Amino acid sequence: MFKKIYYYFFLLVTLLFIMKTDIAFSFNYKGFYWTKGQMGVSVHVNIPSVAYGALQGAANAWNNAGSSFKFYYAGLTTATTSYSSPDNIHVIWSQNTGDTGTLAVNYFWYYISSGELIDSDIEFNTYYPWSLSGGPNKYDIQSVATHELGHSLNLGDLYGPFHTEKTMYGYTSKGETKQRTLHQDDINGIRFIYPH
Ligand SMILES: [Zn+2]
Repeated sequence: MFKKIYYYFFLLVTLLFIMKTDIAFSFNYKGFYWTKGQMGVSVHVNIPSVAYGALQGAANAWNNAGSSFKFYYAGLTTATTSYSSPDNIHVIWSQNTGDTGTLAVNYFWYYISSGELIDSDIEFNTYYPWSLSGGPNKYDIQSVATHELGHSLNLGDLYGPFHTEKTMYGYTSKGETKQRTLHQDDINGIRFIYPH
């Protein structure tokens, strides 16, 4: 068993676009998968209930992408991130992890031998301001949740000028909501992993 900590810097400050030949791939699948083609998502009790709709919307974006995969709601939980061993509770929760430049993190576990995913936990960093409505001075919960659930599918971040319109683009900025909606390449990614 092996733990991979998957984190990223999702805070857009300045982008220096270096033209390079990364147009060759349209999505960035890492190769791990859910054997049953589904993943239960538990919501931690510290997530305000007003945010449930945004999380549901994020799951629906992937569920409606025309693959065989489904996220389903697995109930409320007090479980948090499985830092030391996987607990099979795939939780979305929040905590203040400070001014790190990281808006959210997805920790996932998989079996090295088979590539089977066994846990995926999403943390929102409450150091930063969050919005349900794309408010101009806050980060959009649904956009970031959709991106993070893409990591739960084992789709990786994309960077560079060819990827800015995709949910799996590795940056967002305040007031930005476009990552709520999957780009065709995001759709192609989940369909590649879980064909109908
Ligand atoms: Zn990411």
